[in-house]
Amino acid sequence: MQFTDFGLDKRLMSAVEHLGFEQATQIQYEAIPLAMQGHDLIASSKTGSGKTLAFILPAMQRVSRNKALSKKDPRVLILTPTRELAKQVFGQLKMFTSGSSFKAVLILGGENFNDQVKALEKDPHFVVATPGRLADHLTKGHLYLQGLEMLILDEADRMLDLGFAKELNLINERADHRKRQTLMFSATLDHAQVNEFGKKLLKNPKRVAVGAAH
Ligand code: ADP
Ligand code: MG
Repeated sequence: MQFTDFGLDKRLMSAVEHLGFEQATQIQYEAIPLAMQGHDLIASSKTGSGKTLAFILPAMQRVSRNKALSKKDPRVLILTPTRELAKQVFGQLKMFTSGSSFKAVLILGGENFNDQVKALEKDPHFVVATPGRLADHLTKGHLYLQGLEMLILDEADRMLDLGFAKELNLINERADHRKRQTLMFSATLDHAQVNEFGKKLLKNPKRVAVGAAH
């Protein structure tokens, strides 16, 4: 499967070409069309299989298509378990947003809180964050998620293993939006808490498991 087969916007396609990618990985091949159709998704595949682009491309496609839906609140929120992972995801996201009119911010625990408040005041379209700090900004009223169109949980199993259930519940409640699409990625779908959260956060999800034993 070539990236050209997904029907991505021209701008996005040229960014993919710029990265030097032609052939989609298996998880990208399975997840991207379902996500682009608007389905909620619970997906798993091993580390290094290209899951980041499997959610960045549908997210970029969605916000590029509907330019005026939300003006103030972020349109896409991507949560990852660790600072390191958030930085990596942010780096890949910036390859698509830089040079566009879309703003993206990175909200990490351990960084200066007020700088983040200022960054959030600029009404970014994309927020990449670790759950603890994001929940802080939510409870203190520096961020609202009523306009959120897409919630993405990267490495959901690790976020839950690290004890972020409370934060994820809060974020889910604050982003309880009719039009919200939710994508959940996990190294495994054989994880009781991941399945429990899947039931709570996802609406009629499609399941994609690459390389799973079951
Ligand atoms: P995962 O999240 O599944 O662990 P990543 O999204 O971090 O994997 O991707 C791992 C590496 O593979 C990254 O360096 C990424 O740039 C690269 N990559 C992703 N998609 C492709 C592709 N279709 N072709 C070649 N390399 C890719
Ligand atoms: Mg990953």
